[in-house]
Formats: sequence, C-alpha cells, structure tokens
Amino acid sequence: MVSDVSFTIAAGQTLGLVGESGCGKSLTAMAIVDLLPKPQVYQSGGEISFNGQRIDSNDPKALKALRGKKVAVIFQDPMTALNPVQRTGQQIEEVLKLHFPKMDKSQRRQRSIQLLNDVGIPSPENRIDAYPHQFSGGMRQRLMIAMALAGEPDLLIADEPTTALDVTIQAQIVALLKKLQQERNMAMLFITHDLALVSQVSDHVVVMYAGKIVEQQDVPHIFSQPRHPYTKGLIAALPAAVARAPKTKLDAMPGQVPSIDAMPTGCRFANRCEYANERCEQEAPELTAHETGEISCHHWQTINEASTSGVSKNV
Ligand code: SF4
Ligand code: MG
Repeated sequence: MVSDVSFTIAAGQTLGLVGESGCGKSLTAMAIVDLLPKPQVYQSGGEISFNGQRIDSNDPKALKALRGKKVAVIFQDPMTALNPVQRTGQQIEEVLKLHFPKMDKSQRRQRSIQLLNDVGIPSPENRIDAYPHQFSGGMRQRLMIAMALAGEPDLLIADEPTTALDVTIQAQIVALLKKLQQERNMAMLFITHDLALVSQVSDHVVVMYAGKIVEQQDVPHIFSQPRHPYTKGLIAALPAAVARAPKTKLDAMPGQVPSIDAMPTGCRFANRCEYANERCEQEAPELTAHETGEISCHHWQTINEASTSGVSKNV
C-alpha cells in the first residue's frame, strides 16, 4: 500500500523516484495515470497534482483525456506497450488518431516517420512498416518512446526504462530522454532502483521506502547531505568509484522491507535502522519540511548533528 505520496514536477524538470524493488515506486506511477488494479490497490492518502491540477481525481473523463495526452508512460519492457503483430507505423498512427482526430492519413504517416526520426531510428521511412520483433531491444525502447511522445505529453513517466538494457544502450536511452525532454520542455518522472542513474538524469530526488516517501531533496543535496538513515545507507553503499556505474543495486543494505500485510505501526524502516528507539517502533514519523527538502524521521536532527560533528556511528 502506498500512502501519503505527494510531489510536484515542473515543466522541463526531472524528478527521480528511487527505492528498492517492491517499495511502491511503480504503484505511485500507476496511481498518477489511474491504472491501479482496483480495488485491491488504492491510493490511501496524499495527492498528485500536475500543472496545478489534481490528477488523482475520480473523474474518469478527465483522466482519460490526461492519460497519454498530458501524461505518457514508458515501461521497462517495451513489449508491454508494443503490439507484436502490428506494424510499427500503424501503432504510432493509432496513438495519433486518438489524440489528433483532425490529422489525415498521410499526415499521420508523416508524423510517425518524424517521431521515429526524433527517437533516433535510422532511415525511419524504411523501418516504419517493420514489426517490433525486427528491432533490437534498444531500438524497441526507442519505439516505445516514440509512441509515448505521439500524444505530446507534458509529463513523461519512465518506469525503470533502462533496467533491461546493457550499459551502452542504457546510456544512449538516458541521453535520448534528456534530449527529448529539453526540446519539448516536458516534465519527467524517472523511476528507478539505481541511485547512480538518478544522479545523471534528475534535478530532484524522492526516496521511497515501503510505500512511503522518506526523503526528498535536490540532487546536489541528496548526495552531499543525505538526511534519512535509509538514504544515507544507500549512498554509503555506493563507493566513490562506482557511484556513477550503472546497475548499482540498492538492495545491498542488510535487512528486508516489511511485507505489505505486516506493515509496522511505527516507522517502516525501524527494523533496519541503527537509530531506532521505542518511539520509532510506536509512532510513524511524518514527512516534514526543512531548509533543503523534506524528511520523515523522528531523529533526523540529532542524527545529522552527530554526523557533522564526526562523533556518530558511520551510517
Ligand atoms: Fe530510524 Fe527512527 Fe528515523 Fe525511522 S524514525 S528512520 S527508525 S531513527
Ligand atoms: Mg517497478
């Protein structure tokens, strides 16, 4: 269950949403476009706004207009978005038909070729009638990006978009996303378990743990002054030499995320936190603002005073 998740992303900015597998990152993204498998999973608190407009409303018409058009999602596996038995061009043209009903057939064809070109598919006019399986994994990821862009979204949600790709291709896709984002002034929500990758793509980072935001700060601050014991642990697990290496797993920290049906009443990180005391076991910390971001920890001030004076345990 994901609770009390609120954040804002400005046009042209990237928000990195980081956490271990199963921490609720994808659920948060799905909540944004209302794709949650209801009623088992639901949004229990917080709000999600985009361009000042709440998008976690229950107005199905507003959400339908929003999905794809204002907000588009790309996933780890392009085949979740691509139809294997339909030609590439046709699939992009269908998205265009939906969002731009006034476009005629030849305009849609032209626009599709343009989109394939924008995402770096070589000689798109020759590739437009190929099937998805005739493309490599990296090229399929580009196709999915082209489809996502077809509706001209203001917000692009990228859910682990490079996790399945090898290092070189991963870097190319990330560079492509950054370039497209700048050209179009899109906001991007970049979801990943890879903290090193976040430092390359994001302006701001939200760290989630067990379905809750534990900390958020801009990129320079999160790396120079992480404040939550969990964030500190994640960063400490990234030795300087590999801090920028792709595929660094966050899962290196000892202990396990509490399971969904055994969520503690207190702090969800308590069983892994070396600073946990009785209060932590009993009372869930609230997300509170400080001068450079937000944090959810009862003892963050004491912990951080101790670490800056150099007398603390090394987290
Ligand atoms: Fe650790 Fe307590 Fe802070 Fe949770 S609230 S992170 S258990 S110190
Ligand atoms: Mg996920």
